[in-house]
Amino acid sequence: MEEFNRVKVKLVTCSFFWGSLLMLDYFFPRTCFLCSAAGDDLCVHCQQKLKVICRGVFCTVCGKPFTAGLKPHPCSDCTKDPPAYDRHRSIFLFDENIKKLVHQFKYQGDFGIKRIIPEFFGAVAAEIPPADIIIPVPLHVNRLRSRGYNQSLVLARVFGKLLCRKVGPRVLKRVKDTPTQTGLDRRQREQNLKKAFGISGKHDVGGKKILLVDDVHTTGVTLNAAASVLKSFGAGEVYALTLAFVPSGF
Ligand SMILES: [Zn+2]
Ligand SMILES: [Zn+2]
Repeated sequence: MEEFNRVKVKLVTCSFFWGSLLMLDYFFPRTCFLCSAAGDDLCVHCQQKLKVICRGVFCTVCGKPFTAGLKPHPCSDCTKDPPAYDRHRSIFLFDENIKKLVHQFKYQGDFGIKRIIPEFFGAVAAEIPPADIIIPVPLHVNRLRSRGYNQSLVLARVFGKLLCRKVGPRVLKRVKDTPTQTGLDRRQREQNLKKAFGISGKHDVGGKKILLVDDVHTTGVTLNAAASVLKSFGAGEVYALTLAFVPSGF
């Protein structure tokens, strides 16, 4: 009888949960993030507009998309000056559509992007070697307080679920409160991020394969600085994954 009651409670709770979701959809119907058409988070028309980098040709090191070429190969920048990370991939090419999604996510607290990622993740997942741990690029505590969340941690948790890997939110820390990188060129960004990252004392990254996560790859300076620190603490390999790759001149 006790077992029967437990099942009954579970069924009622479950129906209440799904019922609530249906009610929410009824009163607040989903609309496309980009064109506001009713029906879904991203309508079929807008889905087709997003450019998925790993379905095309790209640099095998930094993941920069190429406009032409037969197969993926290292770009001239990575050949001349290899980055501290071993490999980076972005899901999308940054354009006006992705800019709108990233803006809603990063500055307006709209996490709807979480529901869009799985649809496009297959192509990039095949490009990411298995990692021991996923580490988000951290925000300084002052920035975290003013924004209320770390967008890279939100993404790291989504990727963690999709890749079945654990997330280490406090392994890497931002020890310097740097001004925003927006509007700075590569050299200024490098200067800005000098000694910006550290490893939290109780964590050992020695020999580990790490997947670093950030929201967008603009110049790669942030990922490079974070990967350098991880490598200086003995990390075995550092891969990086971002939502979008900003082409030069965007
Ligand atoms: Zn749409
Ligand atoms: Zn490259």
